[in-house]
Amino acid sequence: MQLGHKAKIIQVPVPTPTLYPHTTTNCYLIGNEYESLLVDAGYDRKETKVEIEKAIEQNHLARPEKIILTHSHRDHAPGVRQLSDWSPTVYCHKNEKRGIIEAISPISKISYIADEATLNIASLKLVVLHGPGHTSGQINIYIPSEQILLAGDNIVAEGTTWIGPPEGNMSEYIQTLNRLKRLKLTCIGPGHGQWIKNPYEQLEFVLKRRLQRENQIKSLLVNHEYLTATQLTEKIYENTIHPSVFYVAKKTIEAHLIKLINEGTVGQKDLNYFIVGS
Ligand SMILES: [Zn+2]
Repeated sequence: MQLGHKAKIIQVPVPTPTLYPHTTTNCYLIGNEYESLLVDAGYDRKETKVEIEKAIEQNHLARPEKIILTHSHRDHAPGVRQLSDWSPTVYCHKNEKRGIIEAISPISKISYIADEATLNIASLKLVVLHGPGHTSGQINIYIPSEQILLAGDNIVAEGTTWIGPPEGNMSEYIQTLNRLKRLKLTCIGPGHGQWIKNPYEQLEFVLKRRLQRENQIKSLLVNHEYLTATQLTEKIYENTIHPSVFYVAKKTIEAHLIKLINEGTVGQKDLNYFIVGS
């Protein structure tokens, strides 16, 4: 994306070996020939550095001195290790501290950024938004002058983001999506997949999907009285998912159940869940 005042925001997809349906993670370069920064650094693989440095060269950008990490997952953070010759300062949220240190060590120049902190780069103002849900220290970068949001894994181009305990929190995730919806947006740069040009539709799609899942859980519990998380997962996904991802699907159901328990709608006795007051 070429901006009026010569700063650029460049999406750099780097290969991710394991995360079907996504085969790449997006890193973003922001800046101009005098200064730039990188948002997310991909996998700890040689290709990461090759792709990022190719994009820096092609777009005539300065080499970044700052790397912002949206979260600590292995497809977003450990690529920093490949970039050690930049001597970068790494920025992340303090809730992500443990995961980030593990992901990027021995690199240790870390600076913690909080919600609504601002950074200026190549005369662009970037606003940090703490958007927990996928992980507790997830951050998004908002560029008000361009109405662009770099969403990390809060929004992906295809399908929905995985939310599962213990690090994922469905209540926080829904709150985060509602907050993002209130921003002025023309475009979302997702953690995976292409630029999203219909940001509000995508946010609505994800919110609706989560609400549908929640309603499905509630009506199954109304009809069956007691169900375990495994039984709920079997009934909801029937035969639509491969056994290898059953555990992941079950974790999503558990994230919904935790939200419903906190809201007082659902109760739990041993492994069984039930509707409160029924
Ligand atoms: Zn992630």
